[in-house]
Amino acid sequence: MSVRSNLADVNTRIEAAALRSERKATDISLIAVSKKQPSDKISEVLDAGHHIFGENRVQEAQKHWLTRSDGTGNVEGSITPELHLIGSLQTNKVDDALSLFNVIHTLDRPKLVSKISTSLESLKQAADKSGRTKKPPYFFIQVNTGLEPQKSGIAPNELSDFLELCMEEYALDVRGLMCIPPYEEEPRPHFELLAQLGREHGLPYLSMGMSSDFEVAIECGATHVRVGTDIFGSREI
Ligand SMILES: *Cc1c(COP(=O)(O)O)cnc(C)c1O
Repeated sequence: MSVRSNLADVNTRIEAAALRSERKATDISLIAVSKKQPSDKISEVLDAGHHIFGENRVQEAQKHWLTRSDGTGNVEGSITPELHLIGSLQTNKVDDALSLFNVIHTLDRPKLVSKISTSLESLKQAADKSGRTKKPPYFFIQVNTGLEPQKSGIAPNELSDFLELCMEEYALDVRGLMCIPPYEEEPRPHFELLAQLGREHGLPYLSMGMSSDFEVAIECGATHVRVGTDIFGSREI
């Protein structure tokens, strides 16, 4: 199977899952997760007209995407990609992440939020001076729905306080919640919990669902699904 036909297949499955749950497929963004994928496969997805991509590491994302940019935000003269950071963000990579990404899915601790706020302020000042403008990213909060000690994310019962910190104290543009369910568990209860938390807090976006479970996630209300393997094939090590 070519990457192009894989992409078409994933889009068909998204449409079917949307139909089943009486939702519009156009309300669901497919994030093609290009981490650890070779450049020619990424080109194939771009050539097929897809422009939304996800990366989990800042440095690798720079390698994948800065080289394709002509400096105006256009990639290879045609499509402007929309880049999503879906992996955890170290504070020393915040400046780079804010300049590269359009969306960051992984707000997961107060120290990170504070650093982002400071960096956004200095980026804004630099932009005012130089006249160059890149819209700042908007954000998702990662929720540790399975309360797994090794996984990042805010515990569901700490979400209210964390949201208040992000939105009231730091005025970040938070639009949704993201989760990665525990590997060995049924994902549906985790997706349902995330959807419920989203409703409680009036957040419109839900980033949930990967190759193995994006159809279930759509049935539970996902607005952003993050699909790597089913589009690109298995990753390089
Ligand atoms: C790698 C990754 C994905 C994509 O996983 P696949 O199983 O290849 O679809 C989705 N979300 C996150 C957070 C990831 O790190």
